[in-house]
Amino acid sequence: MRESYLPFSPPLIGEQEINEVVDTLRSDWITTGPKTKRFENDFAVYLQAPGALALNSCTAALHTALVTGGIGPGDEVITTTLTFAASVNVIEHVGARPVLVDVEPDTLNIDPRKIEEAVTDRTRAIIVVHFAGHPVDLDSVHELAAAKGLLVVEDAAHALPAKYKGHYIGSGINPAAFSFYATKNLTTAEGGMLTGDAEFLEQARVISLHGMSRDAWKRYGKGGNWYYEVTLPGFKYNMTDIQASLGLWQLKKLSSLQARRNKVVEAYHNAFLNEEALELPALRPEVEHAWHLYVLRLKDGACKVGRDRFIKELSDLNIGTSVHFIPLHLHPYYRKKYGFRPKDFPQAYNNYRRMLSLPLNPRLSDRDVTDVIEAVLEVVKRFRQ
Ligand SMILES: *Cc1c(COP(=O)(O)O)cnc(C)c1O
Repeated sequence: MRESYLPFSPPLIGEQEINEVVDTLRSDWITTGPKTKRFENDFAVYLQAPGALALNSCTAALHTALVTGGIGPGDEVITTTLTFAASVNVIEHVGARPVLVDVEPDTLNIDPRKIEEAVTDRTRAIIVVHFAGHPVDLDSVHELAAAKGLLVVEDAAHALPAKYKGHYIGSGINPAAFSFYATKNLTTAEGGMLTGDAEFLEQARVISLHGMSRDAWKRYGKGGNWYYEVTLPGFKYNMTDIQASLGLWQLKKLSSLQARRNKVVEAYHNAFLNEEALELPALRPEVEHAWHLYVLRLKDGACKVGRDRFIKELSDLNIGTSVHFIPLHLHPYYRKKYGFRPKDFPQAYNNYRRMLSLPLNPRLSDRDVTDVIEAVLEVVKRFRQ
């Protein structure tokens, strides 16, 4: 058994990031400015996105996208129950009604057939979540959305860098929201990015900064003008140059960080492939997975103990794990407001009960990976039926 506790997902910050942050702190400009602009440009180029707007979180990006899309009271927005609270909270924030639907059994992504059943004449948008970094079946979603005139917003918090049919997630004209939270594939401690159509992003930029017609960098820079107009009551969602300093270097390193994630996944896959008690994450042929999470499922009836005990045993063996996610319909706010019962979404519920996320990050050494594998196989052996 390993000597020290292996944390689930520590950040990997290098000297370049640290030096860039210090350079910003020693400069005359620490909030949204030249480095944020450069980060937006580099990010859009990387994904071949039509444009990018840097914000202070993915939650802010999702909220801004819904407001920019004109979603509000009386509207319905369809999304998955198997996601983080932010994807659904933002629907409540704009006063619309979240309509939760179930997931596909293999990818655990929103089920396009369930979306179709949930559409009413009040439906205005669909928020899809690329769960764990495996892209959603976007062709089906876009076809349905086009037929019904719905806005598609992608929660791409897990999906950097993922590809669907050869194109990066975030390269489309519909809005996609990325997260740079501390545990995500690219981190700025806190931060987010909205990609999409340039005209949409121009409006989103105003909405995300007080509704002001001109941001501070444009006003205070040489040749800037002090005058601005407030065109609507916007939010305060801008990214700072301190955050962008981290993002600029994290983006340069993204491909190599990703290569390490892929290696870890390959090792897990080979080690668990022939273990009958375990169900491995799905990978469809038309996608490139971002491998933000490695979600293992315990097969029903294969172990004498359930998922909770499994996690406890791994923790006793010094392996940190997590669960993604407690389905939204089980949380008190949503359960009470909409009268949900656990089995209303049977796929999400049954998979939730048997899932756990293993450590998956570029800081893992070969020894760490072996420790995780040995601990998982040891716990399976102990409790095999
Ligand atoms: C992390 C996460 C978010 C929120 O990201 P923030 O940048 O923390 O706002 C949204 N959706 C999903 C699926 C996430 O995992």
